Amino acid sequence: MPKEDFRKFGHEIVDWIADYFERMETLPVLSQNAPNDLKNALPTSAPEQGEDFGAIFADVEKLILPAVTHWNHPNFHGLFSTSTSSVGVFGEMLSSAFDMKAMLWRTSPASTELEPVVLDWLRQMMNLPADFSGIIYDTASISTLHAIAMAREKLNLGIRERGMSGRTDLPLLRVYCSEQTHSSIDKAVILLGLGQKSLVKIPTNERFEMDTEKLREAIADDLAAGHLPLCVIPTVGTTSSSSVDNVERVADICERNDIFLHVDTAYAGSAAIVPEFQHYFKGLERADSIVTNPHKWLFTPFDLSVLYVKDLDLLKRTFSLVAEYLKVTETVTNQMDYGIQLGRRFRSLKLWFVMRYFGQEGLIERIREHCRLARFFASWVDNSEDFEMLAPVPFALCCFRACPQGVDDPDAFNEKIMNEINASGEAYLSHTKLDGKFTLRLSVGSIRVEERHLRKVWDLLNEKVNADL
Ligand SMILES: *Cc1c(COP(=O)(O)O)cnc(C)c1O
Repeated sequence: MPKEDFRKFGHEIVDWIADYFERMETLPVLSQNAPNDLKNALPTSAPEQGEDFGAIFADVEKLILPAVTHWNHPNFHGLFSTSTSSVGVFGEMLSSAFDMKAMLWRTSPASTELEPVVLDWLRQMMNLPADFSGIIYDTASISTLHAIAMAREKLNLGIRERGMSGRTDLPLLRVYCSEQTHSSIDKAVILLGLGQKSLVKIPTNERFEMDTEKLREAIADDLAAGHLPLCVIPTVGTTSSSSVDNVERVADICERNDIFLHVDTAYAGSAAIVPEFQHYFKGLERADSIVTNPHKWLFTPFDLSVLYVKDLDLLKRTFSLVAEYLKVTETVTNQMDYGIQLGRRFRSLKLWFVMRYFGQEGLIERIREHCRLARFFASWVDNSEDFEMLAPVPFALCCFRACPQGVDDPDAFNEKIMNEINASGEAYLSHTKLDGKFTLRLSVGSIRVEERHLRKVWDLLNEKVNADL
């Protein structure tokens, strides 16, 4: 592209993004497209001749935008509300301009050296001890996969060389988590060849927290049966209800039995930077590894997940494999040694921008405000005859449902309200099942969210209840 064009369109795109952030609230939160609308509007093969970028960019507004569900919209409350900040976008722009594949130090000194520094800043903010080293992967699913692979390597069963298939000398390996655990752990045991039968889902209490007494029993039973515990994965901030497993008690059990402890705090880890939330994270200092996702609740564009590990050498032992064409003489860190990918994106740049631009205080203040807003919303629910809370609110997620008098099937009723609100484009709520009940989930996490946005959802919910009765 001629450099004049690059400048012209580059400015146009930045202007477009600035306007997009500004007009976001006028757009429907959930795409109003039907399945295949976009696909059917596109040619079935690439153009023979190159096209003018102006024409391509015009199609973003015309074809792509209607097919976008706006995660950055302040009324996106489904799943976990995550949003990027403007500086995060700058980080992505520059990182794609450099287009570095961080594998060897020499191919990417900037990534190799900035990443540990930024992750050490975050470690300090999260009040984790200095013996944790961080490494960035794309998602929590991949971070956890690496953690379990490390735990397996630590058992010294020769699996790296000999694999698992066809071996009669291996006991059944067991991974423990709770019934509320994220599906990424199921996927990891599938991929690591452990199989779903190796995954033990410990029941939870009435607050949806792992019953650690049942964990202790399950491990004792497995040991008695000759099985080999591989790791335990408690969650601080579960996906369904943001419940908090008691990591201290799990750590006691792990220490007594010498079992690897991986903590999944993909969502709530960002709240560890807030001084008054420290009590939720007790015991994390005793973990072997921890996953947290700045792309979830630290205003960093997708993707950026952080795995903190105590034993960086073990991670390296698990994955390092140096082909001849990658051999170098310098004694330096080569990021390819710490995971399954060879090349990795320069992701730390955007997190560095975010941490410097907002500062520790700015980040703490925003997370604290989200939690305050969620508790505020929960207080409206608590004070209403027509709604009830279905789980505690440790962070910024409200699990609740409508329960007006005269409704025979509350599950169907809540599902209907949720679908109507989502179809209106005014807000996006998602759902879960808690205690067998259809539960509405309202997550507060957008950098653009204010009290008025929650008020809007509350009004919509009440309108629906009154209209549908
Ligand atoms: C979101 C979430 C995950 C998965 O995150 P990805 O980065 O999308 O893989 C895992 N665990 C918990 C507790 C989560 O909330």
